[in-house]
Parts: sequence; structure tokens; C-alpha cells
Amino acid sequence: MTTDGRLAGEVVLVTGAARGIGAAIATVAARENAAVAILDIDPAGQAVADTLSATGARAVFVRADVTDPREVEAAVLAVSERICAPTVLVNNAGRNSYADPVAMTVPEWDAVFALDLKSAWLLSRAVLPEMMKASRGAIVNIASIHAEQTSAGYFPYGAAKAGLVGLSRSLALEVAPRGIRVNSVSPGWIRTRLVDEWLADNPDPAMAHTVADAHPLGRIGTPEEVAEVVCFLASPAASFVTGADWRVDGGLTARYAVPPVS
Ligand code: NAD
Repeated sequence: MTTDGRLAGEVVLVTGAARGIGAAIATVAARENAAVAILDIDPAGQAVADTLSATGARAVFVRADVTDPREVEAAVLAVSERICAPTVLVNNAGRNSYADPVAMTVPEWDAVFALDLKSAWLLSRAVLPEMMKASRGAIVNIASIHAEQTSAGYFPYGAAKAGLVGLSRSLALEVAPRGIRVNSVSPGWIRTRLVDEWLADNPDPAMAHTVADAHPLGRIGTPEEVAEVVCFLASPAASFVTGADWRVDGGLTARYAVPPVS
């Protein structure tokens, strides 16, 4: 294995990597010479692994539901057998939620938190014993700017993502003495299928421009721009970064919304 690349020698497990931000993280990690494990409930993850393998990268796909403790344990074991125990975990699988707080049922609530919060603990629990044995490792959790500033109509997405930022901070303190770092990344508007569909369905044809103009950088981001930050945080270059939440939002949340008073 070559020693070039920010993640050379690492085994990077990315959840929800069959498409979108997760697929971009797997691709950038492979470019940085990591061996990559793509974990997803969607069998389309195999095609991502095949594409990366065709470039000479070591990439495997493991199908698993990250909300199921037994499937998570089996998936991590499969990665260990097929490559090696993960040295980097990226908890990326997640979903939006648009529930009404009164009409929402308990099973619907549990489903949101199982995927957006509990799965990060289940995966961490499964990979940490080997990281602890090695006295090294990195975990990056994909949260959202909704963890701090949310919008009406997204209930309870902000609560789950705020929980994920809190989990990252709390876990960082637990495992820091064992040489393991834990951080979160909070993306803003990122051009994925979900955002494209939302813009296509929006009755206002100017909405794409309105959204872009809200950003100090004048545009929304790309999955690759999130992936670069994730791979930096996962790499030894970020060796003194733990318990942090990094926003990747084009400055959206830095700007006070009300126009300045003249
Ligand atoms: P996406 O819907 O395109 O991809 C999510 C992936 O997770 C899919 O491949 C899906 O099959 C997989 N997945 C879903 N449930 C699963 C389960 N139970 N087990 C295993 N895999 C499962 O999403 P995306 O837009 O790429 O977002 C990725 C992450 O980034 C999510 O956590 C999301 O909340 C967060 N995020 C996205 C944006 C954005 O603008 N797209 C902004 C902020 C945060």
C-alpha cells in the first residue's frame, strides 16, 4: 500500500455511502489512499464500491441497516474480515423529518432518532473496542446546521442532529484518553438528490437563486466540499481536533438575517 495520501493506511467505514454525501466521502477517502468500507441499506452501494475498485482503490460494500444492533455488529465484523478493523468511522446515514409535533406517532419519532442519533452510538460501540486496542482512531458524525438553527416544518430533525453534536462532544471526552478523536461536521445546503428534488418541486421558479443568494459565498455546497472536511478531520493532520463541530455551510449561519439598519 502506498504511503502517499492523507488517509494512507486507514480503514474508513462510511455509513449511508451508496449515494450523496456518503458516496463523496468514500470517494475522497479512497483518493487519499484509505481502504474504504461502504455500508448502506441500499444495494446500490455495491456500484460505488465497484467504481472505486476500478480506480485501484480497496473498497468493499456491506449491506446493513444501521438502526439494527445485530446488523451493525455483523457489518463491522464483515469489514474486519474482508479488510481490517476500521480505524475511521464516518456516521453519515441520516434522513430529514417533516413531522407535525402533535400528529407525529411514537413509532415515527423512534424511527427518526434511531437513524439520526442512535445509529451513531451503535456503530461507535461496534468499532471502539478495536480502536481502543490500537490506541488510535477517529470518528466523524455528520450532523447539520439544523442542530443550532432550524426552520419550521422540520420537526424533530433539529433535535436529533443537536443530539448528534452532543453525542460527539460527550464521546470525545470518553475516548480521548485512549487516543481516539470524535468530531462532527454540520453541512448546510448541499447539492444532493434531496435538495434537487425540493427545488424542482418548489412552486417558486426563483427559489434556487433565493437559496444561493442567502449564502455569503453566493451558492450552495457540493458533497465533495463536505467530504474534504470530513477526510481532513479523520486524518492525522487534525490530530489536535476533538469534540468539535465544524460547519460547512458557505457562511450561511454566520450572517444575521435581518438587513442592516441604515
Ligand atoms: P441521502 O438521502 O442522499 O443519502 C443517505 C444514505 O443513507 C442513502 O444511501 C440511504 O440508503 C442510507 N440510509 C438510509 N437509511 C439507512 C439505514 N437505516 N441503514 C443504512 N443506510 C441507510 O442523504 P444526503 O443528503 O447525502 O445526507 C447525508 C447526511 O448528511 C445525512 O445525515 C443528512 O442528514 C446530512 N445532511 C445533508 C444535507 C444536505 O443538504 N444534503 C445538509 C445537512 C446535513
